[in-house]
Amino acid sequence: MFGIVGIPVTEIAIAAQAAGIKYVGMRNEQAACYAASAVGYLTGRPGVCLVVSGPGFLHALGGMANATINCWPLIVIGGSSDRNQETMGAFQEFPQVEAGRLYNKLSVRPSSLEVIPAVIEKAVRTSIYGRPGSCYIDIPGDFVNLQVNKNSVKYVECCLPPPISMAEHSAVSKAASILALSKQPLLIIGKGAAYSHAENNIRKLVDLCGLPFLPTPMAKGVVPDNHPNCVAAARSMALQHADVIILFGARLNWILHFGLPPRFRQDVKVIQIDICAEELGNNVKPAAILLGDINAVTKQLLEEFSKRSFKYPSNSEWWKRLRVKIKNNEERSKGLALQKSLPMNYYTVFHHIREMIPKDSILVSEGANTMDIGRTMLPNYYPRQRLDAGTFGTMGVGLGFAIAAAMVAKDRAPGKQVVCIEGDSAFGFSGMEVETICRYNLPILIIIVNNNGIYTGLDANSWKEMLKLGNPATCVPPVSLLPNSRYEEIMSAFGGKGYFVKTPEELRNALKASVADKQTPSLINVMIDPQSERKKQEFPWLTRSNL
Ligand code: ADP
Ligand code: MG
Repeated sequence: MFGIVGIPVTEIAIAAQAAGIKYVGMRNEQAACYAASAVGYLTGRPGVCLVVSGPGFLHALGGMANATINCWPLIVIGGSSDRNQETMGAFQEFPQVEAGRLYNKLSVRPSSLEVIPAVIEKAVRTSIYGRPGSCYIDIPGDFVNLQVNKNSVKYVECCLPPPISMAEHSAVSKAASILALSKQPLLIIGKGAAYSHAENNIRKLVDLCGLPFLPTPMAKGVVPDNHPNCVAAARSMALQHADVIILFGARLNWILHFGLPPRFRQDVKVIQIDICAEELGNNVKPAAILLGDINAVTKQLLEEFSKRSFKYPSNSEWWKRLRVKIKNNEERSKGLALQKSLPMNYYTVFHHIREMIPKDSILVSEGANTMDIGRTMLPNYYPRQRLDAGTFGTMGVGLGFAIAAAMVAKDRAPGKQVVCIEGDSAFGFSGMEVETICRYNLPILIIIVNNNGIYTGLDANSWKEMLKLGNPATCVPPVSLLPNSRYEEIMSAFGGKGYFVKTPEELRNALKASVADKQTPSLINVMIDPQSERKKQEFPWLTRSNL
């Protein structure tokens, strides 16, 4: 349970701890809510976010929306004003249940104390059954200290894990036939596959059938990024020329360019696997529909392909073209990474991070360029070890996610390193959670890739010149942040270790010291060229042409 206490929920947090629930007090409800939602994604059971009435609830809406849009389970418990003061202008009064409906699969207030266990069971079940999402439970202040006769409470057993559904047999065989005829197939792995723990079976399928695969950002690691069939380095080309695509738990939304030209072939055949029937057919009419749990459906496909002894030839023209593209793209990034000029560029920074952090680190990442370039430069070898701005493109999630990942790792994988790589702008949204990290002594490594701004910034001299022009509010570019800000001092203020680095050597030394110290949180503030950019893309970001 993550949250911030106050009237009327302080007693709930105390009672939760007494019941053996870990309670992590955060500094802003938004970050608390992001943290709770990441627990849901990582474990398959919802974490809880506990908030006070009115503003506390409202601050958590961002987290509820982010969870529901990411299809992650979450329970939010909000205190609300006393029932007998409703509509009277009570302290922090707000129509929370109504407001919660837009953001949640379920938004309810228990009608009495007696039914709370049944309502909680329903919320947990709703959050994880079908397409996962957020659920909100409203607890009026006067409930908190009411007495109840134990015998009248409607206790219910907690819900079982979600039932496993499988695709229709005919659809499985249709999908296999379509794939068998494909000349340029592509398997796309989405974060639904990561969530459903389908890694072993998807990997078997890739190996058995020899198909090229492409992970979406948070699906990186479901099959390791260094698997020979990974075509992430030829992403645009793979998407643009594939004639058959099999989608494992990924929506054809903006992340996949809606499945439409010019990023896809007009005649691309899509085989869609999803647990949510309403999703099937969005933007593109599927050639085959596999409604069911990804892991179970992958098993069905494995059986079908084994029966047919299907193997896509590794010497096909398609594989040859993909391999050439991969090689070219990798060499371009390598060239940028090895540039010696100072200040460093993004590629150089990620090159050194990649060399110095443990291979099984949990990577949290946000920021525009920092996240986009980091995704291509930092490999994932294990599933569910990348958390980022996600489907909603939310900035400010990083520290909450890192705290959640560190709490989960503490229980399930002690000693695992959490590395949270932030743009300087992204860090600002939840920077005070550094205090939370230090309070719970979570040995998270935060790396800020600092370009003095949003997308790009100004160097210190240009900044000074700019200020001479007059009122900064009228002459400073809106993308600029204060140059050379010493963000690492926020970490040292709370007892962690802070490093300010400008050169590859300083960066490597700081990384080495941070990774070696398993007790202390640290923050490395890496100054880069404020004008450093992504390498040129074939398509402009979020292209609208021909849509
Ligand atoms: P990405 O961001 O990686 O493209 P999305 O969040 O768009 O992924 O898609 C994830 C999809 O996975 C959602 O459509 C969701 O309904 C689906 N999903 C979640 N859990 C399961 C599951 N157990 N089995 C099948 N599909 C699932
Ligand atoms: Mg920046």
